[in-house]
Amino acid sequence: MKVADSGSALREILKTVPGPRVLVPTMGAFHPGHISLMHRAREIAGPNGTMIVSIFVNPIQFDRASDLAAYPRPMESDIAECEGAGVDVVFTPDAGSMYFPDRSVTVTETLLSRGLCGATRPGHFDGVCTVVLKLFLLTGCDAAIFGEKDFQQLAIIRRMVRDLDVPVEIISCPTVREPDGLAMSSRNTRLTPEQREDAPRIRKALLEAASLETADEILRSARTLIEASPLTRIDYLSLVDAETLQPVIALERPAVLAAAVFYGEVRLIDHIAVKAR
Ligand code: AMP
Repeated sequence: MKVADSGSALREILKTVPGPRVLVPTMGAFHPGHISLMHRAREIAGPNGTMIVSIFVNPIQFDRASDLAAYPRPMESDIAECEGAGVDVVFTPDAGSMYFPDRSVTVTETLLSRGLCGATRPGHFDGVCTVVLKLFLLTGCDAAIFGEKDFQQLAIIRRMVRDLDVPVEIISCPTVREPDGLAMSSRNTRLTPEQREDAPRIRKALLEAASLETADEILRSARTLIEASPLTRIDYLSLVDAETLQPVIALERPAVLAAAVFYGEVRLIDHIAVKAR
């Protein structure tokens, strides 16, 4: 396995690697969700292709400085996990090598990013689109793997690739969960034991609410179940069209019930599909 810590080092390594190239973009602090993406990447790349994993805590996608500062960065163990997962190239740039101090070009998606995380995290998806496009260009990847856990991010990246004719195939993987249903996240390690014990309520609330009949009942039930805990603060709870991500009031088409919930400073997201009635 080779490790590149800058774009120029990566370019040198990539001159010699065989295709297809499959990229798994991450911010590190690996858990089994990330590893599942790597396994999928190997399937797509095949035994002779090249699996590239990027580990970059992208400063321009963080809307809160405290969240960026507290983001876990266990680089040594992450690199060891990449080795174990059969990664061919690990890309670990620092912010200085990714962004010029006077950078002035940003990729903005203007429709799907309006609601949900886009509404409560200003600039977040500009940061995501910009870094993902840069990673696609730096690696020259043929395909890239993303988790369905970040379903708005996945929809926005698919839109970016479609609208800008980016020649990268976007492949998604299902959300990997803890045995108690909590979606795995690098942020889970920042929960107190009490918060960690309470956090599966997000998934339970979404599951229970999604089986109800009307949009109104679904939203009310999920809110009640999440707010039943004194430890939670809802950032958003929305029922949106599965394709347009615009809020829905009637369940005439497939929808998604999505939540972002704060436990103290830690913000967790989850979602569930809701069938048309
Ligand atoms: P992150 O390091 O959190 O930016 O995530 C990197 C990639 O891993 C993204 O495509 C995420 O959607 C994906 N991911 C994060 N958590 C999970 C999970 N629990 N299951 C599957 N994929 C995940």
